[in-house]
Amino acid sequence: MTMNKATSIPVNVCPMCNGTLAEGFTTFSADIQGRLFVARRVPARICEQCGEEWLENAITIELEQRAMAAFEARSEVEIISFAA
Ligand SMILES: [Zn+2]
Repeated sequence: MTMNKATSIPVNVCPMCNGTLAEGFTTFSADIQGRLFVARRVPARICEQCGEEWLENAITIELEQRAMAAFEARSEVEIISFAA
């Protein structure tokens, strides 16, 4: 399974371009063995310069857990709203 853009960033500086990261939300999607998992309103830090989106490790772990739970329930497509 592929989780793109998952990394740990100690400071609010973009590892790609050294731009400033701003708090925001993104839509996360993963294609796992032919099944699609989509999470809307995922908290992310977004580079104001290049637009790259970075997820916290804890967020990535929770996404993985929720994706696995959805697929254990045999959902072909799972779309969730991550933040309330
Ligand atoms: Zn950047």
